[in-house]
Amino acid sequence: MNETQNAYEEIENIVGTKFVSDSEPIRYSYSMNCDFTLQGIPDMVVKPKNPEEVSEILKIANKYGTKVIPRGNGADLTGGSKPIGDGGIVLDVTLMNKILDVDEKNRVVTVEVGISWSELCEQLSNVGIGYYTGSTGPASGFSATIGGGLSNNSVGGGGAAMYGAVTEQCVGLEVVLPTGEIINTGAKANSFRDKPFTRFGLGADYSGIFLGDVGIHGVKTKASFNIYPLPEYRGYATYVVEKTNDKIPVERVTELMIKWQHQRLQLHDFFYYPPGNVKNLISRKIAKSLVDKDIDGGLLYYTTVADTQKQLDYNSMKKLIFKKRKATKSQEGVF
Ligand SMILES: Cc1cc2nc3c(=O)[nH]c(=O)nc-3n(C[C@H](O)[C@H](O)[C@H](O)COP(=O)(O)OP(=O)(O)OC[C@H]3O[C@@H](n4cnc5c(N)ncnc54)[C@H](O)[C@@H]3O)c2cc1C
Repeated sequence: MNETQNAYEEIENIVGTKFVSDSEPIRYSYSMNCDFTLQGIPDMVVKPKNPEEVSEILKIANKYGTKVIPRGNGADLTGGSKPIGDGGIVLDVTLMNKILDVDEKNRVVTVEVGISWSELCEQLSNVGIGYYTGSTGPASGFSATIGGGLSNNSVGGGGAAMYGAVTEQCVGLEVVLPTGEIINTGAKANSFRDKPFTRFGLGADYSGIFLGDVGIHGVKTKASFNIYPLPEYRGYATYVVEKTNDKIPVERVTELMIKWQHQRLQLHDFFYYPPGNVKNLISRKIAKSLVDKDIDGGLLYYTTVADTQKQLDYNSMKKLIFKKRKATKSQEGVF
C-alpha cells in the first residue's frame, strides 16, 4: 500500500466509510469551485462531523505530509477551495452545519461553520423578536458557508455599509490548528467564560489571524457573531448616475457619499457599478431585471433600514440627489 492509501484507511477509521471517498467522480467534482482557475484533482474528499474528527484528520495528514484544503460550499471565485495541482485531501465542512446557541442577552449566535449565511439568517428570523447577522455574508450567501465567508473576509451580500465585512461581526472562533490542536479565540479563550461575547480584550486579537486567511492557518469549526433585531422598516432605490460637463459619474458618487456621511444617514448598503460594468451587464444579458438597455452611466443602489417610517424617510437618499430626472421602470431616477 502506498502512503495515500494508508492515509485513506486511517481517515476511514476515524470518520467511517460513508464520509470519505476516493472515487473518481467525487474527486473530479471537488476539483472545481465556481471559477475555472487552478484546477487540481484531490486524492480524497472527507466530510468530518465534528472538530475532534477534523483534528485527527489533520494529524494523519501531517504524518504523511499531505496537503489539506478546507472547503465550505465551493462558491470561491479565486481557486481557494480546491487543490493547486493534483493530490491532497479536500476537507468538506458542510456536515457541521448547526446553530449551537442563540444568546439573546449578549446578542451573540454561535454556529458550526458549515451552515450557509441564508440558512442562518432564516433561522435567526424565527428566534425571539427576530434577528439577523447585520452584515449578511457574500452575495453568494444562499450557498456560501459561514466558514467560507470568514476565510474570505466576505462583504457584499447586504448590510456592509452599516455593519462592515462579515469578519467585523465575529466575536470568536473555534479553530483546529494544522497540528490538530483545537483552540478558541475571543472571550471564550478565557476558561472562566462559558459564553463568547467579545473578540477583543487585553492581548492580541488571535481571531484576526484566522479571519481572511483563506483557510491556510487552520480549519474553523465554530464561529460566534453579533446578531441584531430585524429592522421594522426597509427601503431601497436604484439611480442612474450620468456624466456631467465637469464630472465623471464616480466623482459625483464620491460627492454623494461625503454628503451621506455628513448627514449621518443610516444606509444599510451602498453599491456603485461604474458605466463599464453596467455596459458589460447589459451586453452579457446579466441582471436583466436591474438594467434597462438605454442606460448611459453608472448605477447606484442603496438599501436602508429603520425602526419607524419617519426614520426611514429621513434615511432616504432622495434629498441628497440633485437634478433628479424622470425614471424608467427599474430606476428611482437619473442624476
Ligand atoms: C454568484 C457569486 C457571488 C459572490 N459574491 C460575493 C460577494 O458579494 N462578496 C464576497 O466576498 N465574495 C463573493 N463571492 C465569492 C465567494 O462566494 C465567497 O467568498 C464565499 O465566502 C465563499 O464561501 P464558501 O462556503 O463557498 O467557501 P469555499 O469556496 O468553499 O471556500 C472559500 C475559502 O475559504 C476556505 N474555507 C472554507 N471553509 C473553511 C473553514 N471552515 N476553515 C478554514 N478555511 C475555510 C477555503 O479553503 C477557501 O480558501 C461570490 C461568489 C459567487 C459565485
